[in-house]
Parts: sequence; structure tokens; C-alpha cells
Amino acid sequence: MIEPYRPEPLVNFQDPQVRDRMEQALASVRQQLGNHYPIVVGGERRTHETEIRTYNPSKLDETIGFVTKADPTDVEDAIQAAEEAFRSWSHQSAAFRARVLLKAAANMRRQKFLFSALEVYEAGKTWPEADGDVAEAIDFMEYYARQAMRLAEPVTVTNLPGEEDEAFYIPLGVGAIIPPWNFPLAICCGMTTGAIVAGNTVLLKPASVTPVIAAWFVRLLEESGLPKGVVNFVPGDGSKIGDLIVGHPRIRFISFTGSKEVGLHINELAAKPQKGQIWIKRVVAEMGGKDCIVVDETYPDLDAVAADIVTAAFGYQGQKCSACSRAIVVDAVYDKLVEKIVARTKALTVGPAADPNNAVGPVIDGPAERKILEYIEVGKKTAKLLAGGSKTSDAGHFIAPTVFGDVAEDAVLAQEEIFGPVLAIIRARDFEHAMSIANGTEFGLTGSLFSGCRNRLEYARRDLHVGNLYLNRKCTGAVVGAHPFGGFNMSGTDSKTGSPDYLLLFTQMKSVAERY
Ligand code: NDP
Repeated sequence: MIEPYRPEPLVNFQDPQVRDRMEQALASVRQQLGNHYPIVVGGERRTHETEIRTYNPSKLDETIGFVTKADPTDVEDAIQAAEEAFRSWSHQSAAFRARVLLKAAANMRRQKFLFSALEVYEAGKTWPEADGDVAEAIDFMEYYARQAMRLAEPVTVTNLPGEEDEAFYIPLGVGAIIPPWNFPLAICCGMTTGAIVAGNTVLLKPASVTPVIAAWFVRLLEESGLPKGVVNFVPGDGSKIGDLIVGHPRIRFISFTGSKEVGLHINELAAKPQKGQIWIKRVVAEMGGKDCIVVDETYPDLDAVAADIVTAAFGYQGQKCSACSRAIVVDAVYDKLVEKIVARTKALTVGPAADPNNAVGPVIDGPAERKILEYIEVGKKTAKLLAGGSKTSDAGHFIAPTVFGDVAEDAVLAQEEIFGPVLAIIRARDFEHAMSIANGTEFGLTGSLFSGCRNRLEYARRDLHVGNLYLNRKCTGAVVGAHPFGGFNMSGTDSKTGSPDYLLLFTQMKSVAERY
């Protein structure tokens, strides 16, 4: 018997011993910077001259690693290797596959600080954000291992007289896993292990800014006993290698998390049958958000609200799909709350993620920095700048946490996903107006309401149209098993990661009837 699933506890960096361990891990990972990482196809390691170089967004001249780019031959071979591995892996018992995940979770727990340190360097996560990502990766493996075993239990069907009737779930085949960079371990790990524990085999194409973290994860799976060919590691440019994989006739499903634009493109490309293709590809696409925290005049503690808004807006520099990018505040408390939000924002220290005194690190790369600064310029012309509004240093991609007030509900700042440290505060006449603003974008990922009024909380429960609704708490920080995660509308296909339904996305039900 395995113990029931419990979320991995977060580490306490206030404890001096814990801080020491993190410092040691940072020093140890520093020794490994500049390493080269190969493609992995059917367990075979391959290197080419063409590599992705990743660097530290806190320190632009610091190389993190070099990762070989897969070419079309590698993709073809990876699909072949995955097909071969599928023949045995799909017939392993669910318990066998689950145990590989449980072992990998245990191994990752042992190396927690090292993975966190790597995230600090390659993804620019502050210590607590890095720890949260590693904990979530462990959670996904622990949770999906148990769900796979549950899914293998007999399905209840009606037995007709003289017949034996049964139904069971079988895996789909060879899939593509295409994760984003912002949860470079948790999402990469959750998407990969959810698919494989259900019996599929995959090609994993990591995000091009964080492939070293993905390479470490693939190595960990191998060290944990994952058979060769179940996960094939094929890094490369999304627009080249990604399209090649998604459009391939022998790819059965695509599990994607990333931007709306790329998600819609993948959905379209996957929908077009290719020569020799004998199935409709299944696309799981989790995409962007324009998430909100709504505050009415009945909530008693505006300090607590301000603290939650600032954490949700600027945690990991606002680069979370669930980040609070809109605070929608009713007029009666607007001025008071905005003052508190601005004061807290101005108190945030910005700087290298490796320094635990910094609450806010860098944004991920040059293109992201430019795009965010462009949005800030748009904001300066259309709203009231209340905090931040510029870069803080050129040593890294550092942008000051930025707050705009009196943003119009239909303004660019209130409608488009910026994916950076920019908060738009919108003034609502009253609660009804606030709810209509909250629902007034094309997205529907996360949202919060702070209210002391039972009727309003119930109204939001029913009518605030988001996949993840939070009442009287912030809109970030979903926990595997507690908060099934996925969005409505243009936020995606609502895959509900970390839920009992997730593995169903990577299976199909087979019904068998035998007449005696
Ligand atoms: P992108 O859409 O830019 O990239 C996501 C992945 O898709 C990357 O691996 C990328 O590769 C790949 N890709 C890019 N183009 C193609 C293509 N033509 N075919 C196949 N694959 C392709 O997103 P980001 O990585 O920038 O991530 C940020 C986005 O992710 C935000 O919009 C955020 O809201 C969303 N997100 C959503 C979540 C959710 O659960 N709803 C969770 C986390 C993030 P490459 O890196 O090589 O370009």
C-alpha cells in the first residue's frame, strides 16, 4: 500500500540551515554551468554542432548550458523509438508505470535544492518561487502515479445476460509534449509524466529558454528506471521542430502549454490530416490569461487584500499564467486600496534571483523585456502610472514592478496578456460593474473575489467565468490535487491538471463484450 497523496511541503528559507543548503546547491550548480546536453532518442545520446545556448537572465554574460538542437532526422528517429517503446510500455501494468513516477518523485525530493538552484540560474526564479516549482513537479508525479492506479481499476458497466461485459482505458500512442518556460520543471514534468503514466510514449520538446532544466528532468527519469524510448528529448525552435512534430502523421496527440497564439496555431495544424494519418489528433492546449482580483466594499481587511494582490501580480515577475494582471476595485474602496497596493509595490526589491533579499528577479529574456516595456509605454499614454514604469538595471532583464491606475476596462492593458510585472487597476462603479469587467476579456483562467457578502460570493461562484476561482484569497498558487488547474475560453481546453480527470485526456476507453 502506498500512503495517500499529500502535497510536498515548501521549504522554509528563514531557517539558517535551509539557507545554507540552498547556498551550497547554488555553488554546486555553478560548477556545472556551461555543460553540454545531448538529444536523447531511444536512450541514445546524440550531439550536433547546432546548439541552444541558455543564459542567466539575472546576469546576461553567464552561460547556463548548451543543448543540442534536434534535426528532422532526429525527430523521425524519435518517433520510431517512441513507437517501439510503446509496444512494451503500453502493456506494462499501471502499478509498474506508477512506481517509476514514485521513484522519480523520491529522487527529485533528494535533489530538491539542486533543481531549485538551477531554476534560479536558468529561469530567474527567486528562491521561494524555485522551490514552489520543484515541489509542484514532485506533486504531479506523486499524484498522477496514484491516479494511474485508480484508472486501471475495473470500470462499472451493466452486464447483459449470457455476456461478459467490460470496459477499460488504453493509452493513445505516441504524443508530443510542448511545455512553456515559466514553470520549467513543474509543467514540463506534469505534462510528460501524466501522459506516460497512462501508457503513452512521447517526444518532449522543451521551451528553448529553459532546456537545461528539462534535460536534468529527463536524466532523472532515466535514473529512476524509465525504460528507453518512453521519453525522447528533442529540443529545438518551436516554429521549426515544433511544427514538424505537431504536423507529423504518426503523432497521436499533442499536449501543449503556452501562449494563445501558439496554442491556436498548433490546434489548427493538428486538425489537418496528413498523408498516411489514420486518426484525429487530440490536442490538449492550456494557454494564456488576463486574470483578475475583484475587491468590493464589504471585505474587512484591505491590508490583506493589498498583500495578496501584490504577491499575485509580481510573484515570478508576473510571468505566471495565473498572475493577477487586473485588480478590479469598486469605487467605494478604490483610493484606499490603491494607496496600499502602491506602497507595497514600491517596497519590493528588484535584483538578481540568486540573492534571497530580492523579492523580484529578472524577466526571462530580451524579447520578453522589450515586449513588456512596449506595453508600459502604451500604459503611460492611456492610464495613470503609479509605480515603476522602467528598467532598474542593464545587468539583467530587470523591470520595476509597475502599477497603472484608472485603466479603462477595454484598454489594451486591461485586455491583452502582458506576461510581466505590470498590474492594471480598474475602477468599477459597484459590484455588478466589477463582475462584468471581470468577465469582459477573451480569457478565463483564474480570478478572485474579495467580499464579505455571502450573496456576492455565491454570485461569483456561479457567474465569474474562470476555470480557477478563488474566494477571499489570491489567484495564484494552485496546489496539485486541491485546485484542478485549467482555463475556459481562450485560456485553453480546460485540461484540469492535477485532477482526477487529467489522465483521461491521454487515454481512450475500450469496451469488450464476450458472449458465452
Ligand atoms: P509559447 O507559446 O511561446 O511557447 C510554448 C512552447 O511552444 C515552447 O516550447 C515553444 O518552443 C513552443 N512553440 C513555439 N512555437 C511553436 C510551434 N509553431 N509549434 C510547436 N511548438 C511551438 O509560450 P511561452 O513559453 O512564452 O509561455 C508563456 C505562455 O504560456 C503565456 O501565455 C502563459 O499564460 C502560458 N501558460 C499557460 C498555462 C496554463 O496552464 N494555462 C501555464 C503556464 C503558462 P520555443 O521555446 O522553442 O519557442
